[in-house]
Amino acid sequence: MLSFTEAKAHIANLPLFLQVETIPVWQANGRVLAENIIAAQDLPAWSNSAMDGYAFQRNDIINASEENPIVLPVSNIIQAGSTTQHTLKPNQCVRIFTGAPIPENADIVIMQENVTVTPNGIVIRKCPKQWNNIRQMGEECTAGKVLLKKGTQLDSATIGLALSASIHHVVVWKHPKVGIISTGDELKDPRKGGSLTVGQIWATNTINLQMAFQTMGLDSIDCGIAQDTLDSTRATLLHAIDEQNVDILVSTGGVSVGDFDVVHKALADLPGHRVEMNFWKVKMKPGKPVAIGTIFTPNKTIPIFALPGNPVSALMGFYQFVRPYLLGKMGVPNPELSTIEVTLGEDFQKRGNRLEFVRIWLDRQQDMTIAFSTGHQSSAWMSSFADATALLPFPADKHLLKKGTQCTVQCLPNLGKWPAKWRT
Ligand code: AMP
Ligand code: MG
Repeated sequence: MLSFTEAKAHIANLPLFLQVETIPVWQANGRVLAENIIAAQDLPAWSNSAMDGYAFQRNDIINASEENPIVLPVSNIIQAGSTTQHTLKPNQCVRIFTGAPIPENADIVIMQENVTVTPNGIVIRKCPKQWNNIRQMGEECTAGKVLLKKGTQLDSATIGLALSASIHHVVVWKHPKVGIISTGDELKDPRKGGSLTVGQIWATNTINLQMAFQTMGLDSIDCGIAQDTLDSTRATLLHAIDEQNVDILVSTGGVSVGDFDVVHKALADLPGHRVEMNFWKVKMKPGKPVAIGTIFTPNKTIPIFALPGNPVSALMGFYQFVRPYLLGKMGVPNPELSTIEVTLGEDFQKRGNRLEFVRIWLDRQQDMTIAFSTGHQSSAWMSSFADATALLPFPADKHLLKKGTQCTVQCLPNLGKWPAKWRT
């Protein structure tokens, strides 16, 4: 059985068929840049006022003081949207508004609250520093410089930045076609309606994995539910590979050691395709029976992540293996779940020698972040995952983490949840 770290190393080396495409920036939310964005203009493109006030030449007001106020007439009014380049003459000032272009020769804006308006002009009693309240041309970025690095996952702020620097199209990674297969005779697709009989359960994995992909900005394809027979499992895999043309496959269930766990057998002998499996088990909990490998087709290689069927284990496999793998392949600098330091709010115990990802909930108490278990950690209990805002990696060789211990935990995407154990 591989350690978690060994498994991660194997996964990082799996090849992925990725292509790029050029799309409008306003359609690129969540997409990952495949190339650096180079600023097409200075930011700002022209010097402009940061305040509503008056623009001056510093030399004209340098000697202004309470005892020696200086009065300068207003020669012009410049508002935002004005496209005329004004020039400020000596011993004059202009009325200027936020976002309006600074006239040539002006090097100071004084906000209107700090001047006195008289019939003879604007009274100045103190000269501020040069460039006061002026957003200077090119101060944020200059044309030709890298504005955003490849591997950046675009969001509202980065999209706003790109647009402001005259970038209207970006080169991003095309969404890999992610295919999801569920396996199990007991599964019933909730989208088809009806009700359950004894022995049946709702097939939740495909849907909750699709939601998890959506949260990381990826679409995915439902590749159906395979029955627990070799024929059905093979047929579903082949359909996904040859007909649905997936670039990466995620399956759930059927990778354990039961008589009806046939995913191994189907992958070991998949008609028309060579399959290379890296491993079948990892020393982790939940999610020990997990098979990772590569399917070779004539025109590409497809990584396969065969995750366990328990919904908790499948989702854990997504967070620990699939998500970081995909983001890493796209060059995202921090592909893992983000981590923070917390203090344990209770004792945590475990048996066995597997790395365990404990579902926890984080509370803020007196400037400290305190971690509590979300309850029963069985891999059959989705409720303790549903309540979790973070995951505590409990090291393989430890059996007790005492209350008060400082630990690094992984944050889940949704931090705003009710406190742990509200159910009990
Ligand atoms: P398996 O890994 O196939 O042995 O499945 C482990 C457990 O997960 C069993 O109790 C299955 O009924 C359940 N399970 C498997 N696939 C799904 C699914 N798609 N949705 C919900 N539960 C599942
Ligand atoms: Mg099964």
